[in-house]
Amino acid sequence: MADPTSIPAHVVIFPFPVQGHMNSMFKLSELLCLAGIHVTYLVTVENHKRLVQNTNGVSWYDKYPGFRFQMLPENISQGDGGQMKLFLNLYESLKTVKPFLMDLLVGKGQTRPVTCLITDGLMKLTLDVGEETGVPVIYFRTASPCSVWTYFCLDKLIESRECPFGGGDDMDLPIKSVPGMEAFLRRRDLPSLFRVPDMGDTSFIRMFCMETEQTVRAQGLILNTFEQLEGPIISQLRTKIPNIYTIGPLHAHLKARLELETTSSTMGFSNSLREEDMSCIKWLEEQPLKSVIYVSFGSLATVTKEQLMEFWYGLVNSGHRFLWVIRIDLLADNSDKKEVPKELEEGTKARGYTVTWAPQEEVLAHPAIGGFLTHSGWNSTLESIYEGVPMICWPYLADQQINSRFVGEVWKLGLDIKDTCDRSSIEKAVRDLMEVRKEEFAKSAKEMATVARKAVNEGGDSHNNLNKLVEGIKMMNVTANRA
Ligand code: UDP
Repeated sequence: MADPTSIPAHVVIFPFPVQGHMNSMFKLSELLCLAGIHVTYLVTVENHKRLVQNTNGVSWYDKYPGFRFQMLPENISQGDGGQMKLFLNLYESLKTVKPFLMDLLVGKGQTRPVTCLITDGLMKLTLDVGEETGVPVIYFRTASPCSVWTYFCLDKLIESRECPFGGGDDMDLPIKSVPGMEAFLRRRDLPSLFRVPDMGDTSFIRMFCMETEQTVRAQGLILNTFEQLEGPIISQLRTKIPNIYTIGPLHAHLKARLELETTSSTMGFSNSLREEDMSCIKWLEEQPLKSVIYVSFGSLATVTKEQLMEFWYGLVNSGHRFLWVIRIDLLADNSDKKEVPKELEEGTKARGYTVTWAPQEEVLAHPAIGGFLTHSGWNSTLESIYEGVPMICWPYLADQQINSRFVGEVWKLGLDIKDTCDRSSIEKAVRDLMEVRKEEFAKSAKEMATVARKAVNEGGDSHNNLNKLVEGIKMMNVTANRA
C-alpha cells in the first residue's frame, strides 16, 4: 500500500456557475493548490468557453500541475431570460447533476480518488451525494454571512409575524427576530427575497432558506469574510454549524499568500467571464488622486432606462469624475440608450469614462479612485473594503440589501441609498461621499482596510483558519488512504 501521507489530497470544487460565486471559488482553488492540494474545478461548458475567449483564466492554472477543469454536462446551462430567470434555470438544471457527480466520485469517470467536495451552499444535492458515497462535503456560502444568518431565521420571522410583507407595507419597520441585528435591521434591509406578500411553499425565499437549513449536514462551512468584520454574526452562525472557516477576503488572501510563498502576484490575472477593458486604467492614470468615483452594478443587476438616466444625471451634475461600467446587458428591457441628451454626453466627455467591463480589483486599488457607487454584491463589497474605498450602496437583489445596511449603519463605510433612484439623491450622495463627508469616510475605510490586511497576513485569523482548513483536508486524505 502507498504511504497514505504521500498521496496528495484531491478536492472537487463545485461553484454555483455565475460570476460572483465562481470568483471566490477560484481564489479558494488557487489557495488550496498553493498548499499542495490537487483541485478539480467544475465549470459549465458555456462558462469554460467564455473563460477561454475573454481571459487568461484558463492558462493561468497551467502552473499548478494538480489543477484541472472538469466540464459539467451540457444541460447545465443558464439558458435565456432575465437575470433572476438565469439563476432559476441554473438552479433547476443543477438538480440533474447527481449521476454525473456520482460517476466523478466513485464511478468510471473517477481518475483520482476524491478527498472531499467543496460545494456552493445552494446545492443540497451535493450533500446527498456525499452521504451516499462517503466523500465528505464542506459547504462554501459565497454570499455575505449576515444574509445567510437571516435565511436561518425565516421561521422566527414568520412566527413573530415580521414576515411576510409586501412592497406596499411600511419598509422602515424594525425587525426584531434576527438575533444580533435587533438594533439596526429594518424590513427594507432584509435580503430582497423576503420582499414577498406571502411565503408560499414554492417561493424563492423558501427555497433559499431550505437550502440554508441543510448547511448543518456539511462537515464545515467556509465563509468569505473575516472575524473582525462580522464577528457577532459568525458567533450566531456557529450555534447552527460550529465548524466555520472564515478565510476572507479571499481575493486579498490569495494575493498575500502568492507574495509570501511564491514571490509572484495576481497582477495580470483574471477569471472574468467577460472581456476587461484595460483602457480605463490608462484613463485613471491621468486623473488626480482620489478624484474618481467608480460605478458598477456587478455582473447580474439590471436597471431600467429611466434609472440609467437618473444615475447619469446624478453623476454628471455632481461635478465629480466618474468611471462607469455600463454592461451590454445592464438595461433590463434591452432598450436602446442611444439618444443620450447633449448635456450628458458633454459632461461625460469632460469628466467621465465608460467601459462595458472593468478589471475591478485593479480599478479599486488605483490611487485615483476615491469612492465606489456599487450594487453591494458581496465580492464588490469586500474588494472595496480591502482597498479602503468608501461606498455609496444601491442594492439590487439577494444579499445586497443587507450588505448595504452593514456598510452604512454598522461599519460606517459609506452611504446606503437603497430604494431611491432620482438624480438629486444620487448627486447629493456623490457630493457627500467625495466632498462633504470625505474625511470621515476615508478614516473609517482606512481603518477597516488595515484590519482586513491583518486578517489575511501571517498570524491573522483568516490566515490561521485557512491553515486549519488545509490541515483538515489533508487529515481526511490520510484517513481515507489508510482505510
Ligand atoms: N467585476 C469585474 N468587472 C466589472 C464588474 C464586476 O471584474 O466591471 C467583478 C467584481 O470584481 C466582483 C464580481 O465581478 O468580483 C461581481 O461579484 P459581486 O458579488 O460583487 O456581484 P454579482 O455580480 O454576483 O452581483
